[in-house]
Amino acid sequence: MSGPATTLGILGGGQLARMLALAAHPLGLRTVVLEPKANCPASAMAEQITADYEDPAALDELAARCGVVTYEFENVPVPAVERLVATRPVHPPAEALRVSSDRRVEKETLNLLGIPTAPFRAVDDRAGLEAAVAELGLPALLKTRRLGYDGKGQWMIRDGADIDAVPARGGLILEGFVPFERELSVVAVRGADGSFATYPLAENTHRQGVLLASRAPATISAEHQALAEDYARKLAEHLQYVGVFAIELFDTGETLLANEMAPRVHNSGHWTIEGAETSQFENHVRAVAGLPLGSTAARGPTLMRNCLSTMPAPAEIAAIPGAHLHDYVKEARPGRKVGHVTLTAPDEATLEQRAALLARVL
Ligand code: AMP
Repeated sequence: MSGPATTLGILGGGQLARMLALAAHPLGLRTVVLEPKANCPASAMAEQITADYEDPAALDELAARCGVVTYEFENVPVPAVERLVATRPVHPPAEALRVSSDRRVEKETLNLLGIPTAPFRAVDDRAGLEAAVAELGLPALLKTRRLGYDGKGQWMIRDGADIDAVPARGGLILEGFVPFERELSVVAVRGADGSFATYPLAENTHRQGVLLASRAPATISAEHQALAEDYARKLAEHLQYVGVFAIELFDTGETLLANEMAPRVHNSGHWTIEGAETSQFENHVRAVAGLPLGSTAARGPTLMRNCLSTMPAPAEIAAIPGAHLHDYVKEARPGRKVGHVTLTAPDEATLEQRAALLARVL
C-alpha cells in the first residue's frame, strides 16, 4: 500500500463494510468509509466520511487518508472510481463494476468466457419483447439490466396475457426460465500477485427473492465443485480481479449455469467467518492490501441464517451450542437484512440438531 499505508478506504458503510473493517482490525489496518448516511453500520468499527459517493472533496479526502480503496456494492458511480484511481489503487478493478452492473454485459462476458447462463435477449421495446418471447419461449423472466437486486426489477412472464402487464421499454433483458434443482454460489478470491482460491460451494435458499440461508460446504460432486472453480478462475483472470467476488449458480442437476456475479464480499460467504480457516472478509482485505491469501478450507459443516426484518434476542442465540450472532445494528424494517447467525458443528447430524434449535428462535 502507498500513502497512509495502514488505512483501508471503503466506498459504502453498510454491513459488508462493517465486517470488512472488523477483519482489517487484527491485521493492524484502520478503516475509513465514505457513506452518505450518518451512523451507518460500519461507523462503529471505522472512521466515517459522511458525504455523497460522488462528492469530489470527500473522494479526495478518502484518497488522502487511505493507502488503498475498495467498495462494498456494485453500483458505485464510475466517475467516483475514476477520481480515486487517479491517486490510489482501487480494487476490485472498475471493469468488474462495468460488467456486473449491467445484466446484459455480464451475461455476454460470462458466455464469451465459456461460462454458460440462462439463454437471454436484450429487450428495448414491445416488438423486441415479443420477438424475445418467440425465441426463448415461456415461462421467462424479464429483468432490468441495471439496479435490480434481491429479485427486485423482475417480472415473470408465464403466458401471453402477462406480456401486456410487464413493462416493454429500453434497458431490459428477457431470460429463459431455468427449472433448477437448487441454487449454489461460489465465493472466490484473487490476490494482487495473481494467486487464486475458492471457498467450498454454498447451497442457498431464498425467501421472496432475498437470501435466507446458506449451507456450506454444499453436498456436491467433485466434478461440479471443479466446474464452479473453473468458472470463477476464468472470470477472475479475464477481469484481472483483485479481491473477493461471488458467482451465483443454478444447479440444473446436469450442470451449473451462472446467474450473476457480485464484485465484492457476498452474503452467501458470511458462513466463512466461523466456518472457514480464513473468512471472505479477511481474504478480501489481504488481497487488496497485497498480503498473501489465507486458506479457504472449511472447518466443518456450517449454516448461515440471515435475520430479516428484526433481530432475535441475543440470549436465545447464545444459548444454542455452536451459534454465533452477528448484529449489524440496523433499524428494523420489513424484509431488511439486519444481522445473521452462523451455526457450526463437528458433524452434519449435530448441525441438524442445532439448526432445529435455531429454527425455533428465528
Ligand atoms: P437475480 O436478481 O438475478 O439474482 O434473481 C433473483 C432470484 O430469482 C434468483 O435467486 C432465482 O431464484 C430467481 N431467478 C433469477 N433468474 C432466473 C432464471 N433465469 N430462471 C429461474 N429462476 C431465476
